[in-house]
Formats: sequence, C-alpha cells, structure tokens
Amino acid sequence: MTRGDVIVIGGGLAGLASAYALHEAGYGVTVLERREDVALETSFANGGILTPSMPDPWNAPGVHWQLLRWLGREDAPMLLRPRAIPGYLGWGLRFLAASAPRSYHASMRANYRLCAYSLERLRQWRVALGLEYAVGTLGTLEVYRDPASFEQAVAEVRALAPLGLVGEPLDPAATARLEPLLDEIRGDLVGAIHFPRDESGDALLFCRALRARLEARGVRILVNTAVRTVRLSAGRAVGVETAGGFVPGSHVVVAGGPWSTALLAGCGVRVHVRPVKGYSLSIRIDPGAGPRHALSDDSLHAVMTPLGSTLRLAGTAEFSGWDLTLRPARVQALWRLLAALSPTLARTVDRSDAQPWCGLRPMSADGRPYIGATPVAGLYVNTGHGHLGWTQAAGSAALLAQLLSGTPPAIDPRPFALTRNERRAWRGEIQPLEQHP
Ligand SMILES: Cc1cc2nc3c(=O)[nH]c(=O)nc-3n(C[C@H](O)[C@H](O)[C@H](O)COP(=O)(O)OP(=O)(O)OC[C@H]3O[C@@H](n4cnc5c(N)ncnc54)[C@H](O)[C@@H]3O)c2cc1C
Repeated sequence: MTRGDVIVIGGGLAGLASAYALHEAGYGVTVLERREDVALETSFANGGILTPSMPDPWNAPGVHWQLLRWLGREDAPMLLRPRAIPGYLGWGLRFLAASAPRSYHASMRANYRLCAYSLERLRQWRVALGLEYAVGTLGTLEVYRDPASFEQAVAEVRALAPLGLVGEPLDPAATARLEPLLDEIRGDLVGAIHFPRDESGDALLFCRALRARLEARGVRILVNTAVRTVRLSAGRAVGVETAGGFVPGSHVVVAGGPWSTALLAGCGVRVHVRPVKGYSLSIRIDPGAGPRHALSDDSLHAVMTPLGSTLRLAGTAEFSGWDLTLRPARVQALWRLLAALSPTLARTVDRSDAQPWCGLRPMSADGRPYIGATPVAGLYVNTGHGHLGWTQAAGSAALLAQLLSGTPPAIDPRPFALTRNERRAWRGEIQPLEQHP
C-alpha cells in the first residue's frame, strides 16, 4: 500500500534522485523521460565535483561589469551572446538585482546548507544502494594565481566556517606536496585551498546505477515519453498528458531541468529559470596519470576532475538561449585549462578520442533552486540548481520528499520555496529565516 502515486517529470539527476527519495518515503513513483535513456541532457557529462565548498551563486557583486568586459570574447569564462539577450530580459534583471551583496551572501549560505546536507544524504545512498560512480573522496583543491582572489576566497571560507565548511589555505609548496601533479606549475600559483570534505563522481554513472536500483524496487521509468502538459482538475494536478495518453497521479513533480519553466507556465506557475550553457571535455587517461584531487582553477572558472580512467575538464558559462552548438573556441578554452594546470598532461594525452560536450544548466535568477510546493495543489517542483545540480541532487530530493509527505524538513526549506520573496532577500531580510535547525 503506497501513500499515493507520484509522477516525476524528467530523468536527470533531479528527477531520479526525487524518485528515490519519494519511493523511500512510501510513494509509488513513475518517472517520465522524453529522451531514449536517462541523463542524456544536462546530467550527462558535467564537471563531476560535489562541492559544498562552492555554494556561491554566479552573480557575485560586480557581475555586470564582468559580463560587459567579456561581451563578445569567445574565450570568456562567462559569455553573453547579444542575440540571446531578448530571451533573458526579465530573468537577467533579476539575475543582476540578486548580485547585491546581501542577496548574494544569503544565497551562498542557503546553498551551503543544502549542499552539505546533500552530500551527507548521497553518502548514505551510496552505502545503502551500493552505488558505484567513480567516487573520489580526497576533496577538491582550488588553485589561485592572483593574491586578491586568493585573499577573497580565504575570507569566504572563514565566513562559512561557522556553518561547518572546512577549507585549508596552502602555500604553493604545500599545494604541490598534496597534489604532485601541480609541482610543475608551482611558480604560477599564489596558493590553493583544500576542501577535504568535498567529493567527486560521474553523474551519468550515478544516474544509470540509480535507475537500475529504482527499477529493481518497482519504480516505473518510462523513457521516450514526453509530457505535453500537466492536467489540472478543480485547481489540482491530477496527472500528465503524453503522446501515449493520460498518466494519472496523486502528485506531479516537475524536475525537467531548464524545460521546467515552460511546463510550469502551462499551469500558471512561474519560476525564474533559464538555460545557461556549459562545456566539458572527457579525456581517456592511464590510471594514476591524472590528479589525485578534483582541481578548480579560479582564474579560468573551470574544473578538472579525475573520474576513474576519464579526466573531465568542465566550465564556462554561455548565455546563448537553447543553442547546443559545440563551439570550437569554447572547447579550446578547456584544452588551455589542461595546459595551464598540467603542461605535461596537455602534451601527452591522446587528443584524438577526447569527447567534447555541452549542456544547459537550469539556472535560477537568484542562484538558489526551487524545491517544494507550487500554488497548484498536488504540483511540486525540483529544479533551478544551475551549476550545483550534482552537488545538491540528493539533498534537494530528500527535502522535496519531506515537504510533499508533510515530514518535518531537515533543513530550512524557505530559501528554496517558490514563494520566496526576492525583494526581501535583496534587502537581507532572508537572514532570520536561516535560524531553522
Ligand atoms: C558543463 C557543466 C558542468 C557542470 N558541472 C557540475 C559539477 O561539477 N557539479 C555540480 O554539482 N553540478 C554541475 N553542473 C550542473 C548539473 O549538471 C545540473 O545542475 C544538473 O545536471 C541538472 O539536472 P536536472 O535533472 O535538473 O536536469 P537534466 O539533467 O537536464 O534533466 C532534465 C530531464 O528532463 C527531461 N525533460 C524535459 N522536459 C520533459 C518533458 N516535457 N517530458 C519528459 N521529460 C522531460 C529532459 O529530457 C532531461 O532528461 C554542471 C553543468 C554543466 C552544463
């Protein structure tokens, strides 16, 4: 006997994790995925880092100057394509407004709590389900090449330390001792921060392994099944319409990545989520040839993550609408990252079978995901995780299941609610809400 039958729209990290958490909470669950398999969109080849250490939204104070400075530069870490501007207008104004220091810091703290909770849940799931996904547990190492950025990063670590963040600043010599691969660029670095509690792992392997465990537990996962609309009756979500017909459900969860915005708009529900494109490059390496830690390079806004016999380089943000063209200049930027972090690897890896990829991050305007109820009874949402969707997947799903089932939430859900008042956040009034245990 289940508590109800939940339909989850979307078979990416957010949808599959939601399915597991809801199944654990006692619901019958059906996942509907329009593609031929799970995790073929944004969850396919991301950077692979699980980083409570990077909870900061991308709209840091001063982001508008950066966007202007980088306008039209093909190799810019954050690139706004002028022809895509109309598609980002309303969202973009909110994105810029949320870069006000108070809003930015409030989002950072709320994200940190969700990230830390999420990693805790993920470790439990990994053990309980025996999931294998090229897990790395040595933490991340963030390297810095200019003193001002290093100082600012150390200050941010100190600000989050009372919430539980552990980060150890290292000088270049100590950095190279911890990560011998960086010895040859030691002279370029001013320092690094080691975050020992971060993890890494392959999101695609995770999704595939989770799918197998879900199906073994009786969760239905229907691929090649695109949801056209959510059906409402007397103001309540009662199921979804697909090409194959109506699928009834007691609740509907929209976890459709950046496509969620349109699905929700069809029900009169508004979320401020837009696609922000990112690139990755997967390179085969010999065991032991890559770094021991996941590395992040602040100056290049990109990461390099060892995932078993794959080295994953990822990063860059492009505001270019729904365009999924693989642009050579952006892929080149990732090769440059490799050369900047390990000139030896850049010379020796086999470039011929490297796999470039790009995906669309579901980015919310204020840098926090939307998790929980909508104004439509029975209709829930779990999306908008942007650059943190892997890190926050398990925790967001657990929080969603707690909210849907009426169980006391493990962390304060209000910063992630649809009803959050961004204006209050801009004025810093979100802070008292965070007193929740
Ligand atoms: C280059 C890059 C690097 C990244 N690196 C990291 C990282 O290192 N760490 C981290 O934490 N995060 C990272 N991210 C972010 C993370 O990958 C995303 O936030 C996450 O994958 C989003 O998952 P999702 O399930 O919301 O979306 P998706 O994976 O896109 O899943 C949504 C699914 O919904 C389906 N769908 C949509 N509409 C419908 C419909 N109408 N009917 C049925 N199905 C539908 C889609 O087909 C899709 O499969 C990165 C992202 C990118 C692009």
